[in-house]
Amino acid sequence: MAQRFDYIVAGAGAAGLSLLHHLEQAGLSERRVLLLDRAPKTHNDRTWCFWEAGEGPFEAVIFRRWGRLAFHAPGFSRTFDIAPYTYKMLRGLDFYRHMDERLARWPRLTRLYGELEAVGDGFVRLEGQTYTADWVFSSVPSSPLAPRPPYHHLLQHFRGWVLEAPHPTFDPGVATFMDFRVEQQGEVRFVYVLPFDERRALVEYTLFSAHLLSELEYEAGLRAYIHEELGLREYRVLETEAGVIPMTDIPFPARLGERTLYIGTAGGQTKASTGYTFQRIQRQCRHIVQSLAQGREPAPPPSPARFAFYDSVLLNVFAKKRYPGAHAFRDLFRRRPAPQVLKFLDESTTLLEELPILFSMNVPVFTLAALDVLALAVSRKR
Ligand SMILES: Cc1cc2nc3c(=O)[nH]c(=O)nc-3n(C[C@H](O)[C@H](O)[C@H](O)COP(=O)(O)OP(=O)(O)OC[C@H]3O[C@@H](n4cnc5c(N)ncnc54)[C@H](O)[C@@H]3O)c2cc1C
Repeated sequence: MAQRFDYIVAGAGAAGLSLLHHLEQAGLSERRVLLLDRAPKTHNDRTWCFWEAGEGPFEAVIFRRWGRLAFHAPGFSRTFDIAPYTYKMLRGLDFYRHMDERLARWPRLTRLYGELEAVGDGFVRLEGQTYTADWVFSSVPSSPLAPRPPYHHLLQHFRGWVLEAPHPTFDPGVATFMDFRVEQQGEVRFVYVLPFDERRALVEYTLFSAHLLSELEYEAGLRAYIHEELGLREYRVLETEAGVIPMTDIPFPARLGERTLYIGTAGGQTKASTGYTFQRIQRQCRHIVQSLAQGREPAPPPSPARFAFYDSVLLNVFAKKRYPGAHAFRDLFRRRPAPQVLKFLDESTTLLEELPILFSMNVPVFTLAALDVLALAVSRKR
């Protein structure tokens, strides 16, 4: 006999736990819920950064906040005030623990651990047992993501260190959003620096490219940056973080049949041109929960098609190496106010607000890329 629930949440990562947060906010924490994952989260497997105006849902566990962001490219350096936004850092482990504490008070929540054998329409299978629900929300990818020409497919990959300098080195009021003053080697390569205090910071060497590097290559890039730009010869590495985020316009399935919805990265919430996902997950979960609370069928939030088009154009520029990433981001930050750029990347701008942003880019290069994206879309339809 299959065990029955109101909701099954497959995957207790950012999306699964965010969905439960929003369910609780909507007064739905008394429902019969099954939450599944491979294993309990016991270490800090990732750190999320995002920008937000005002207070957000996880304000109590935000680790650091910055009101100013720095951008550097060869020949151009600027520090911006980003009001009304604040750039925030949330450590994975703080988030998991915070949610664990809250979920311990849910009266009818069941948590199970193991490798999911199947996620189907309205059911999941774990260790030979089938569980069914009115609604299944899955952040477990339906299949491994692989390149699918003619769609664009890049990876955002990075390796970083939380390091401790022997003397005051960082300005804790300013996070370095992107620093392109590193060897580009024909790719998009940059470093970001998130200072915790004057001596400690997360320094992350990041690429947008088709292929991963060896551990040694990321670390060589990190060492060179720390030496040349931070001016540090001695420091201690306190923690290491590494990750790979898909940057692709391959369409992700929004649902599996009628009763199962994909959430998080598996549900296409990673922004193709930047890799930022956390805030989009909040928007998606909020939208789904609003529908549930109103007794309607849950569905992903609507998203204007033009933003997906802009993302594809930027991916096309990078994948076809039409224009260096350092120049593209420099043009943007040189010509437009940083809060407008952040609003645009958040997909919250109106078309009228977007025009000056689009015209701040290299128009001939981006027009060619846009025509290519349109031609690829037509070829896919044939
Ligand atoms: C290192 C790293 C840093 C990132 N930093 C940022 C950032 O700064 N800002 C930002 O916006 N985005 C960031 N991202 C991207 C994105 O926000 C995260 O990947 C986010 O965790 C995605 O949430 P998710 O719930 O979709 O996936 P996850 O958080 O990965 O959750 C999926 C869950 O499903 C479970 N699972 C998967 N397969 C199975 C299975 N077969 N059986 C059982 N359980 C399974 C996993 O154990 C996991 O807990 C980062 C990603 C990484 C990898």
